[in-house]
Amino acid sequence: MTPAAPPADPGTRLAGGQLRLKHVLKGDGRLGHDLDPRDRAPQDACGVFGVWAPGEDVSKLTYYGLYALQHRGQESAGIAVSDGSRILVYKDMGLVAQVFDESVLGTLRGHLAVGHCRYSTTGSSVWENAQPTLSSTEDGGLALAHNGNLINTAALAERVPAGSTRATTDTEVLAALLAADRSKPIEDAAADLLPQVKGAYSLVFMDEKTLYAARDPQGIRPMVLGRLERGWAVASETAALDIVGAVFVREVEPGELLTIDERGVRSRRFALAEPKGCLFEYVYLARPDTTIAGRGVQATRVQVGRRLAQEHPVEADLVIPTPESGTPAAIGYAEESGIPYGQGLVKNSYVGRTFIQPSQTIRQLGIRLKLNPLREIIAGKRLVVVDDTIVRGNTQRAIVKMLREAGAVEVHVRISAPPVAWPCFYGIDFATKAELIAGSLDVEQIRDSIGADSLGYVSLAGLTEATTLPAERLCRACFTGEYPIPVDELRVGKFVLEAKA
Ligand code: SF4
Repeated sequence: MTPAAPPADPGTRLAGGQLRLKHVLKGDGRLGHDLDPRDRAPQDACGVFGVWAPGEDVSKLTYYGLYALQHRGQESAGIAVSDGSRILVYKDMGLVAQVFDESVLGTLRGHLAVGHCRYSTTGSSVWENAQPTLSSTEDGGLALAHNGNLINTAALAERVPAGSTRATTDTEVLAALLAADRSKPIEDAAADLLPQVKGAYSLVFMDEKTLYAARDPQGIRPMVLGRLERGWAVASETAALDIVGAVFVREVEPGELLTIDERGVRSRRFALAEPKGCLFEYVYLARPDTTIAGRGVQATRVQVGRRLAQEHPVEADLVIPTPESGTPAAIGYAEESGIPYGQGLVKNSYVGRTFIQPSQTIRQLGIRLKLNPLREIIAGKRLVVVDDTIVRGNTQRAIVKMLREAGAVEVHVRISAPPVAWPCFYGIDFATKAELIAGSLDVEQIRDSIGADSLGYVSLAGLTEATTLPAERLCRACFTGEYPIPVDELRVGKFVLEAKA
């Protein structure tokens, strides 16, 4: 097993002192995610993909699987591949398309692979913490990729044998504990360890010959199994299966461990299922073309928009979305209200690909970097603007101001989620409670703060009903403060292991 090393030096010193650059440092991706760099949107918690398919180009399947899951994590990307006798891992900071090219993928040969795109929720965004992790076991290697966030990381870390890992992530702790149990095969070690692991985890991991997938008993983060012509794939979202040509088979059940090899797929339950799927996946995180628990995400978002129109009607001339996240709910709002739907803001789809930090002059333009109003559509109109969430309020304040400057007569803001007032400990990095505008202001105060003529959030009941799932099967903690897995706030946090060190 051979982990790829990070680039060591910046370049070669030439005669005369010039430096020929060897490696271009990649940025942190912040511009890629938020409309306004000063108003960080909720950050997704990673995407995972695994494939077992002899005869297929598994590294390319994994590449395209990760490409489809890029929205779940943009800080780093990695793929581990095995040819049956050796695991090779390649990972680096940056987007999937920046980390991998034809030549790198050409070296990653084998018949099984796991891949990961990361947004950091425990541990810093540094190369050492990129995934998949690679550990030594009694029989060889173990590569592991994780979507979610553990809440008993500090307690688990105390059990890791000294010197076995220097990384600062919950995932590395998990991998180290799995690899350290040399008394039994990995499948049995996982079945013993996972019931002691608390929090959110959708895992794909592999040794030289076998692919494994596991999901926490609450099934907080999604994970699905698909069938390829010559094998199997597991992925965070059904959209990733579609994109690699895998047929959706079923969800990996909460509390289930799958083992996939030449004998097929074997299921083993390591804990009773207590489903509490993340409600925020429907609002914001998952792709619109993904299906969760049998319900399409796009259909859910459109239904939320209809409900929003019923709960918060207003006299207006045009419904516009904040592109693209507000689009499905804006369509639903327009359908239900009978107010025409239109595009009033144009988003630069390519700005997310830049890793150049803006200059001070550009930074002052704020969201103009990403959104520009269509004046001829907006001028003289009473607008309904539909968005998916308000975090600090800076983005909506800037949008309202921009629309008024473009000639809007009235601006009514509608939000397709209830106010987010509580932090997430299960893998989504919101602003802290103090930074969340709904943590300290009521709806009227928020309306006043963003300068809208009116403001309406969909009700929690309305959002829940749109998923078609009963409330008991969902985590809704960031809206209610009721956490389905009890959290000791003093023992969690992004830098819990770094602080300890
Ligand atoms: S707290 Fe919110 S974002 Fe976190 S898992 Fe629960 S519903 Fe999802």
